[in-house]
Amino acid sequence: MATAKPQIGIVGFTGCAGCQLSILDLEDELLDLLQLVDIIDFRMAMTGNKEGPYDILFVEGSIVNEKQEEELKELRKKAKILVAIGTCAVFGGVQALRNFMNDEQVRVRQYGTEGAKKHPVIKVKPLNQVVKVDHYLLECPVNKYDFLNFVKYVLAGGAPKLPNIPVCQQCKEKGNRCIFLEDGILCMGPVMQAGCGALCPSHNLPCDGCRGSILQAAYQQQVDLMLEKGASIEDITRHLLKYTAEDEQLKAFLREKWKEQGKKMEYFIE
Ligand code: SF4
Ligand code: SF4
Repeated sequence: MATAKPQIGIVGFTGCAGCQLSILDLEDELLDLLQLVDIIDFRMAMTGNKEGPYDILFVEGSIVNEKQEEELKELRKKAKILVAIGTCAVFGGVQALRNFMNDEQVRVRQYGTEGAKKHPVIKVKPLNQVVKVDHYLLECPVNKYDFLNFVKYVLAGGAPKLPNIPVCQQCKEKGNRCIFLEDGILCMGPVMQAGCGALCPSHNLPCDGCRGSILQAAYQQQVDLMLEKGASIEDITRHLLKYTAEDEQLKAFLREKWKEQGKKMEYFIE
């Protein structure tokens, strides 16, 4: 009798759906993958979806209201392995910058003065602030080959490890000229996770930090260097937290740095 194939789900909460598109972009590889697994839930791509049980559930996007919190908790109960895919799911994404805006102003802007009174304060949360997350796949959007390799690793009984090396390392390996040190352009490569092949610096653009910061990153040296180059602590914070406002270790470091500057890091986004 044929053994049942592992059941996979791919679902999305608040984001741009770019991670799901990235997976769809696998095309031929996705068809090969279907020999090994059953995709039972991929609402963006197919009909007749089944809400679990899942052997692996990939979840894109961040959580922005109570309804989504409840939905995610229900999905978690049905998943053996839950994987956060993309920067929104892992660190809150660009929309989590909203957490650094004045709550009252956000509600008035969104619902008007009267409407604001009826709506609760909403904070943007990465998945792990609501449920247990087993694995994280970084980048904005998630790298389609990271997704593919992850499924293959899990099917083989293992799990991939994040590289935890800075973008600078891959940038140097490519022989790029450093636009940060030579032209003073604010580049986040020294403290951000590699794995992208230093894509942006290889096209003469600064690293924006879409994969989040590495563990035990040299924040101190990076921030001091940026201050030396004339950037304000507000600018530096906006750059460092652009995609990853809920990166706890980075946020904690920046709070202390603001204190050193005699300021309180609170609502710095207008
Ligand atoms: S991580 Fe990036 S690509 Fe994925 S949903 Fe969020 S904004 Fe879109
Ligand atoms: S350009 Fe950016 S990523 Fe490349 S070496 Fe310089 S700081 Fe690092």
